[in-house]
Amino acid sequence: MADRILIIEDEEKIARFIELELIHEGYEVVKCGDGRTGLELAEGGDFSLVLLDIMLPGLNGLEVLRRLRKSSDIPVILLTARDAVMDKVAGLDQGADDYITKPFAIEELLARIRLVLRRRSHADHEPAHNDPDDMLRCGELTLSESHHEVKYAGSEIELTGREFDLLNTLLINKNIVMSRDRLLGSVWGYDYMGETNVVDVYIRYLRSKIDEVFGINLIQTVRGVGYVIRDENE
Ligand code: CA
Repeated sequence: MADRILIIEDEEKIARFIELELIHEGYEVVKCGDGRTGLELAEGGDFSLVLLDIMLPGLNGLEVLRRLRKSSDIPVILLTARDAVMDKVAGLDQGADDYITKPFAIEELLARIRLVLRRRSHADHEPAHNDPDDMLRCGELTLSESHHEVKYAGSEIELTGREFDLLNTLLINKNIVMSRDRLLGSVWGYDYMGETNVVDVYIRYLRSKIDEVFGINLIQTVRGVGYVIRDENE
C-alpha cells in the first residue's frame, strides 16, 4: 500500500511542486495550507509522514509540531527557511525527525523521506540491538552500530567514539551531501560551542585511518558545502 504523505505548506507553488514529485514517486498526497487544518489532518488522517513548513498562517509549524507530539509520533520533516538555525534546533528538540532547508533539490527531499520512512519501519518492527540489518555498508566498508565495529574488506578499523559517530552519520546519510553545520549538529550537538573546523579535523582523521590505509576515496569533499559518502552501486 502506498505511503500517504501530508504536506502542510502555505506557498501553493512549492506545495504543488512537491505534490507532483511525490505522486510521481508513487506516494499518495494530501496538502493543506494552514497550520490549524494541518494539525487536524495529521492527528486524524492515517499518514505515514508529514512535511511541515514552519512559517504558516494560523498556527506556525513549530506549534503544530508541539501539539501533534502530544498524541502522535508520526514522522515529521520540517521545511525551514535558509539560515533559520533556531527553528531547526527548536524543531528537532520538539521531535521533528529531520529538516530540509528551502530552497532544496527535490532529490534531496525524496532521499530524506525514504530515509525517515525506512528508519521508522525498522523502529516499528525490529529493535535495533538485534536487528541483523543494523549493518551499514558502502562497498567493502561495513559499520555495525550494535557492535561498535568498523571493517574494511573484513579487517577491523580502530576508531575513537567521535570518529565512529561521524562515520556513522555519513553512512546513514549515504549519497546525501552533508553540510558542516549538519554534521556538527548530529555528531557534536547543536549546543557545541567550539570551532566549526572540528568537522574538517575529524574528516582528516577518518581519511588517514580509512582512505589512506586502504587506498580508496570513501569520503568525498563537496567544495563549499561539506562531505558525502557515495555508493557507486546505488
Ligand atoms: Ca510558509
